[in-house]
Amino acid sequence: MERVYIHLNQILTLKSAHIKDGRRLTSDDLDVIHDGAVVVKEDRILWVGRSSDLPLEFKQIQSINLTGHVLAPEIVDSHTHLVFGGDRSNEYADRLNGTTYEEIARRGGGILFTMGETQKLSADDLFEQAKAKITTITTYGVGTIEIKSGYGLSYEKEKELTLVIDRLKKHFAPKIKIFNTYLAAHDVPRSFTTSRQYLDEVVIPLLKELAPLKVIDAVDIFHEKNYFTDQDTQQLFQLARDLGIPRKIHADELNTNNGAEIASHFGALSADHLLKISDEGIKQLAASSTVATLLPGTAFFLGKPLAPARKMLDQGVKVALASDFNPGSCHCDNLLLIASISAAQLKLNQAELWSAITLNASHALGLKDQGAIIPGMKARFTLFKADSLSQITYHWGKNLAVSLP
Ligand SMILES: [Zn+2]
Repeated sequence: MERVYIHLNQILTLKSAHIKDGRRLTSDDLDVIHDGAVVVKEDRILWVGRSSDLPLEFKQIQSINLTGHVLAPEIVDSHTHLVFGGDRSNEYADRLNGTTYEEIARRGGGILFTMGETQKLSADDLFEQAKAKITTITTYGVGTIEIKSGYGLSYEKEKELTLVIDRLKKHFAPKIKIFNTYLAAHDVPRSFTTSRQYLDEVVIPLLKELAPLKVIDAVDIFHEKNYFTDQDTQQLFQLARDLGIPRKIHADELNTNNGAEIASHFGALSADHLLKISDEGIKQLAASSTVATLLPGTAFFLGKPLAPARKMLDQGVKVALASDFNPGSCHCDNLLLIASISAAQLKLNQAELWSAITLNASHALGLKDQGAIIPGMKARFTLFKADSLSQITYHWGKNLAVSLP
C-alpha cells in the first residue's frame, strides 16, 4: 500500500550529492523541491517531485498534507558511545575551574571512572539507561544511530556490552536503526602491561567468539600514541577483514600518527576525529572510499582547534559529522545542534552540512541505500515543522523535528 505525502514546503533530496558520492559539493547540490510530494511503498521511495506533478495513479490515494513542514533524508548519528554508567558532570566544572585532565585522571576520574561505573551496572540496567538516551535522541529526528561498546574493558563486560547493543537494536527496529560497533580496543586497562597483551587476551579472542553470532556491524580501535599501535590496529583490521566485518578507527585525534592512512589502506568505512590529520592522510582519504567523520562537539568541549574540514573537502574527501556522544569528552546527544553551530567554524556550505549528517553519515556506516530522497532509496526521513531548510540550522538548539504521520 502506498503512502502519499503532499504539499511539503520543501523537500531536501540531495539528488546530485548522491550522484557525486557526497564529495566536492556546491550549495546547488541540495536539490530542494518546493511544494513537494513524495510517494512511499513499504520501506522504499517510489516517487518524488512537485505536488502539481503528482502522477494520476497516486492522486487517487488519500494523501497526507504536510504544509508548513520540511522533509529531509534521515539524520544519522554515526559515532556515539552511549552505553555507559555514571555521571561526570563534576569533571567539566572542575576543568572550567582550572583542573587539568591529567589531574582528574589521577584522582580516579576520566575513562577509568566510567569503566568502574559501567562495571557496577547489570545488563538490564545498561539496557534501560541506553534505551532512555536513544529515545531522547530520536526526538531530534535522528533515525539511525551507531553505538560503540568500549567501557567494559574486560572479556566478560565487553561481551555483555555488545550483546546489550544487539538487544537495543532488536528493540528499536525497524523504525530506529542501530549499528553495533565493537570497540573493546578503546583503552588499555591498568591490569594489562601492554596494549598487545590486552589485544591478545581480550580484544581478538572475544571478536572471534562474537563474530559467528552476527551481532557486530563493524570493529573500531583507539589508534593513538599510548593507546593502540599501528601493529595492533593492523592485526585487528586484518582479522576483521578475514571475518568479513567492516572497519572503523579513532584516528589522528591526539597526534599525527597515520590513522587516516591505515584507514584508507584497509578500506575502512570511516576514520573519525582527524584533528591532526597529515597532508598525506588527506590525500589518501580523498582517493579512498573511507569517510572522514569529524566530531566538532568533542573539540568544542575540550577547547581544542577543530579538524581541517575545508582542506579535506576541497581535496575531495567525503566528510561526515557525528556527535561522539559520550560521558567524558562530549556529553551532547544532539547532532543537529553540533552541526548547526560548527558549520560556520568548519566553513561548510549548506549541501556539505546536510550531506555530512545524512548521506555521508550513512556511508560512514556502509549504508548506501539511504541518505537521499530519490526513487529506490529507503524511505528513511526526518520531518521538521519549519517553513524552510534554513530555519532549521538557524535555530541553534531549537528542536523542530516532528514524527512523520
Ligand atoms: Zn569516539
